[in-house]
Amino acid sequence: MLSTMQDIPLTVTRILRHGMTIHGKSQVTTWTGEPEPHRRSFAEIGDRATQLANALRDEFGIDADQRVATLMWNNAEHVEAYLAIPSMGAVLHTLNLRLPAEQLVWIVNHAADRAVIVNGTLLPLLAPLLPHLPTIEHIVVSGPGDRALLADADARVHEYEELIAGRPTSYDWPELDERAAAAMCYTSGTTGDPKGVVYSHRSIYLHSMQVNMAESMGLTNHDTSLVVVPQFHVNAWGLPTATFMTGINMLMPDRFLQPAPLAEMIEREKPTHAAAVPTIWQGLLAEVTANPRDISSMKQVTIGGAACPPALMEAYDKLGVRLCHAWGMTETSPLGTMSHPPAGLTADEEWPYRITQGRFPAGVEARLVGPADEFLPWDGESAGELEVRGPWIAGSYYGGAGGEDFRPADKFSADGWLKTGDVGVISPDGYLTLTDRAKDVIKSGGEWISSVQLENALMAHPEVTEAAVVAVPDEKWGERPLATVVLKEGSTAGYGELKAFLSETIPKWQLPERWSVISVVPKTSVGKFDKKVIRKQYADGELD
Ligand code: ADP
Repeated sequence: MLSTMQDIPLTVTRILRHGMTIHGKSQVTTWTGEPEPHRRSFAEIGDRATQLANALRDEFGIDADQRVATLMWNNAEHVEAYLAIPSMGAVLHTLNLRLPAEQLVWIVNHAADRAVIVNGTLLPLLAPLLPHLPTIEHIVVSGPGDRALLADADARVHEYEELIAGRPTSYDWPELDERAAAAMCYTSGTTGDPKGVVYSHRSIYLHSMQVNMAESMGLTNHDTSLVVVPQFHVNAWGLPTATFMTGINMLMPDRFLQPAPLAEMIEREKPTHAAAVPTIWQGLLAEVTANPRDISSMKQVTIGGAACPPALMEAYDKLGVRLCHAWGMTETSPLGTMSHPPAGLTADEEWPYRITQGRFPAGVEARLVGPADEFLPWDGESAGELEVRGPWIAGSYYGGAGGEDFRPADKFSADGWLKTGDVGVISPDGYLTLTDRAKDVIKSGGEWISSVQLENALMAHPEVTEAAVVAVPDEKWGERPLATVVLKEGSTAGYGELKAFLSETIPKWQLPERWSVISVVPKTSVGKFDKKVIRKQYADGELD
């Protein structure tokens, strides 16, 4: 029999209405580079989002299911777009402003975006692409920037503020199917064409609730979250909707993502939480070491998107800032695990739990699959590919060759689980430790060497800032590790010393024979180590 409960769809519209009324006084603060940041209350954001929805419908004729893109930094207007576009039944498509031009063009055309909201400072990026974007009919420009760059645009150009000014602050929001598309995000296409993940209202709603649980980010109305992770990187890890659910204040860095302004905004605005990939925290650490600032207001920092080196966690512990490791991907909305240790442990006992990727929440089911397609036990030792499923996990990609959504066999199991491409072990109490991405693991003479383990060990050396280890071809062993390291300024550490240091924690047969000191580790569009660039540099003889 069915339940006696009301069947109310879980929609972004409900999150918008809730946040702008119940938490109307909470604020989005956007860094401007001016003496004072810009502050806007949730009530104002809600009104302006409603005005934007009216404009998109009445001026542009945007209708259900149509895609509206954003090419924006993290700021109040981007939050407005996040709430307005899904709530009216259209689909928010966040564009990654660090992607190569050809990929951006491919993605906009594939999604058939009808309009784009763009920050003026990003017009130099957008303008040259416009002749290749025939589906874009409207360009809405927000914030400072040179409008003359759009002089030749075929699409109609609008000013964001003028477009929404004077429009009604009410809207007859449609009652949407909770399974309908609300937002989309393309994976960065490290292999093959980018793939579109389409989030539903229901998946966003449930994921936002999960983000807010104490076992996840656990923030409340008393908190301020510094949202460094871009809004184009898996919906800023769910924060713009999670914050509207519980009235968490947001501090938005806009384009001021360099370590010095980040340190300044933390010291001045005193966020209690922040979220970003490890490279941001490496950069900030170097900055506050050279130019001390008080960043201890951040009680908890969510760090993920790439493995967090334990040495980085230790360094922040000393500054009174606790890094909490999380794992996820575009296909998982992204929250997949978070590393809160179990209760009743001393700080020393907590440590081995903190450096794992963390525990799965109730909404994420996991299994490990071995090389012969067998399911592996959760014994903390058996390593296999992680597969997951759940209500905020993708079950297919948007628009394949025939227009239908598609489920490539290397990404989805026959019974519908997502194949993550990540290799690791799970402990009996459900803590995930990733040893590598399947494509980054070093296959040496039939044995696997974890590039992440070598990197973490190297980054624990006091004179190493960053280290990336990749597999390179080897005649005898098939593959061997190449260690590329960035040394602290003035360091004289040689390869012999680094190798000796590694041998304290790493078995001898895994120690790299090939080394290269580099000035910076190449990064992907979302700030992760770009190992394919390192492999190519090595193949092209560019590394000594
Ligand atoms: P991309 O494939 O472009 O990096 P995603 O942002 O979706 O796109 O990246 C997801 C991948 O990032 C995961 O499959 C995993 O390999 C890696 N990742 C995310 N979080 C962590 C983490 N905490 N530790 C190790 N790897 C991580």
